[in-house]
Amino acid sequence: MGFRFLHRSGVSKNAPVGVATIGPLSLSEGIVVKTPNLGGIDVKLREMVEKIHRGPFVMMNDCTAAVWGEKIYGLGRRCRNIVYITLSTGIGGGAVVDNHLLVGKDGNAVEIGHIVVDTFSRVKCGCGGRGHWEALCSGTGLPKLAADIFDKKIWKTSREIFDAASAGNPQALEVVKRMAFFNAAGFASVINCYDPEMVVVGGGLALSHPKETVSKPAQMLRQYGTLKAKIKITQLGADAPLLGAAALTMHQPES
Ligand SMILES: [Zn+2]
Repeated sequence: MGFRFLHRSGVSKNAPVGVATIGPLSLSEGIVVKTPNLGGIDVKLREMVEKIHRGPFVMMNDCTAAVWGEKIYGLGRRCRNIVYITLSTGIGGGAVVDNHLLVGKDGNAVEIGHIVVDTFSRVKCGCGGRGHWEALCSGTGLPKLAADIFDKKIWKTSREIFDAASAGNPQALEVVKRMAFFNAAGFASVINCYDPEMVVVGGGLALSHPKETVSKPAQMLRQYGTLKAKIKITQLGADAPLLGAAALTMHQPES
């Protein structure tokens, strides 16, 4: 556990600690609930930390922490309403509405990756649903989207797809084009739900391919959405969740 390293590097055992973690969470129990990415077992995060660290401890879903990071330190500093979206291995979100951080009963609010963007899709999401945004357009989803369109497995990673598209491969270009439509539908649905002044997009996929994943879809919003909002790429790189978790230890949002 990284805290031993932190303690060795001089951080006091009484310092407040904020952790941004993948979900789903049970905040009341302090656990990460059976996530496939961690071997499908409950991870007793709070108990693990409290064994070796004495200071106050805050844990938060990484996208919930990230939107708070954007609100305190990032592009959302002047916004009362902001949504953070990560386009990464998965797709997730966090929202601040009227200056309130939306957390949810267990810490799992704003699960926007499971918005349906294609009702005809055969691609199943990790959650079991079909046509979910995350299943089609996340880093792990894009190869499945490609396999569904062309009825055969062509690429293993999203990186291969973007490389092929930039080399002019027509099949890869078709995948990137469909992703843009789905991302536009996803962004529009999120804006319709939360009415933010700004949507900030982060995550590895968005940061490595901002034009294809964010700028292009942002120009297509009027086809799907009714409300308007600015859509920007994060200026905090991969640090928004960490900065948000740190801020949460110092300043609890209104609730
Ligand atoms: Zn799903």
